[in-house]
Amino acid sequence: MRSMRLGVAISAFGLLAGLLSAQAQFWDVTQVADGVYAAIGKNGAFANSAVIVNQDDVLVVDGSMRPSWARDLVLQIKRITDKPVRYVVNTHWHPDHTQGNQAYVEAFGPSVEFIAQRYTDEDITGKELPYIQQTITDLLGQIAKMEKTLADGKDAEGKPLADGARAALEKQLADQKAYLGELQQVRIPPRTLTFEHSLTLHKPGGRTIEILNFGRGHTRGDVVVFLPREKVVVTGDLLVGGIPFFRDSYPSHWVEVLESVHKLDWTVAIPGHGDVQQGKGQMEKLIAFMNDLLAQVKAAVAQGKSLEDTKKAVQVSLSGRAGDFPVYKTPEAYQRAVNVAIERCWMEASGKITD
Ligand SMILES: [Zn+2]
Repeated sequence: MRSMRLGVAISAFGLLAGLLSAQAQFWDVTQVADGVYAAIGKNGAFANSAVIVNQDDVLVVDGSMRPSWARDLVLQIKRITDKPVRYVVNTHWHPDHTQGNQAYVEAFGPSVEFIAQRYTDEDITGKELPYIQQTITDLLGQIAKMEKTLADGKDAEGKPLADGARAALEKQLADQKAYLGELQQVRIPPRTLTFEHSLTLHKPGGRTIEILNFGRGHTRGDVVVFLPREKVVVTGDLLVGGIPFFRDSYPSHWVEVLESVHKLDWTVAIPGHGDVQQGKGQMEKLIAFMNDLLAQVKAAVAQGKSLEDTKKAVQVSLSGRAGDFPVYKTPEAYQRAVNVAIERCWMEASGKITD
């Protein structure tokens, strides 16, 4: 009798836990058009995905940074539809958009198609896989250091660790260990469909999904996913809420890519990071920012200015644009993003980008 009651209690708890976990921990999923959902990352899952529910199947744009975050989105997709995910499109190779891809094979089997532009396919293999190995090595080093600090009870200057510092370090250590555990399990499935410029899916019910590459931009293989009937575009990191990450970019080409995306007929953008954008206003702010940035950096390089001198000169005049990117909480955070952008533009203008 007693064990039966316990069994009932456990299954009731299991049901409750199941219901709770069905509420997205890492995603705000909102419908932006008929059958089209934005999955905006939250609680640390900072890169977005998009979910397109077709008549017979589902297409997901971007695979998240961690398999656990992607699995959480799979739970959400299953709440929206009983149709299987058949396609995963990666907008570019960066880890925060691809490392969770395998969750879709785990949930929907080996027939899931992984779609990428040719360079993104090459860069997942050539850049991302070594990057993952390097990150694992770095994390092992950081974890060992944190564990030693906690064991010794002293900070870097040899002073005893305060309670607050110890608690913060313990939390950081737990987070890093969890991420390491996931990274060691990451197996990015091979791409099954690759293309050069565009790939169009013609699905029953009048659903057309255009996957478009306009040349080099934020990386050398970015795509946007464009739904002409629904007037929605999913941009990857060509467009984000703030200033996108310039490190792997081709800035003067990128601004041309943005002009091309701007010409498409859409009213809603699901960006790579940040909230859903209604209309083209934020994209126009980014284009204006980039044109301003490029003109100034080119002028500085033409005057023979070093990177450091260029940063000083250009920062000041771009600081007035901070209001165009309200995602930054401090002027310093805005300046850091601007600095990365200046650096890459300076490299491009100086002929130092070789690939
Ligand atoms: Zn990203």
